[in-house]
Amino acid sequence: MRQTTTPVVAVDGPSGSGKSSVSRGVARALGLRYLDTGAMYRALTWAALRDGIDTADAAAVGELADRVRLEWSTDPDESWIRLDGVDVSRAIREQSVTSAVSAVAAQPRARARLVTLQRGATEDALAAGQGVVVEGRDIGSVVLPDADLKVWLVADPAVRAARRAAEDAAAGRAPADRTGDVTSVAADLARRDAADAGRASSPTVRASDAVEVDATHLSLAQVVDAVVALVLGRSAP
Ligand code: C5P
Repeated sequence: MRQTTTPVVAVDGPSGSGKSSVSRGVARALGLRYLDTGAMYRALTWAALRDGIDTADAAAVGELADRVRLEWSTDPDESWIRLDGVDVSRAIREQSVTSAVSAVAAQPRARARLVTLQRGATEDALAAGQGVVVEGRDIGSVVLPDADLKVWLVADPAVRAARRAAEDAAAGRAPADRTGDVTSVAADLARRDAADAGRASSPTVRASDAVEVDATHLSLAQVVDAVVALVLGRSAP
């Protein structure tokens, strides 16, 4: 394991396992940057819906990915993402985007463009003398195979669904069937996980050298503490 004061931490796992909250918390605790790669796929999906592009049209989605301008914050205390100058941070959490994002994320040319941006953002953080926590589905397996620590974050489906339903309600977001029923949220997460794990291009997969952290019976603070301990155990203080 590489010893470093600027650790690169990959956090992957299924939908609703708490990757964003945990990654943000770890970045805050250790003074690292934070990159939400799911937000990039969501922003691209928002653009596809805006432009009326068929998400199954590989050429059109690839062309869109090459054309749009994406900007994002890597400050864990101030998350935002802009597409062609428009702040889409809230819009990308809407159900229309959530329902369509797996189809966009299955397009290899779109993935290639976003992976290039993700590696660039990681290099920028390191060049600025900072480590970074990068959250997604293929970070440890594809985007950053040399990450200093790879975390595979899991939680029981029922727990993931309950947490996601509570988050949606707190944010005032309409859930998939507009009832907020945990069962329908669970079905939505399962559908997205199956699509993300079953696609041909960089499916969600646990990297062979990833450390599994099971958040089922832990509070957010406990999961953050566990990951911070793993990072500190693998890098110079
Ligand atoms: O993490 P989040 O739920 O915001 O991700 C939205 C979607 O983006 C995922 O369901 C997946 O289809 C896609 N994604 C991906 N690879 C990543 C991050 C997200 O395919 N590294």
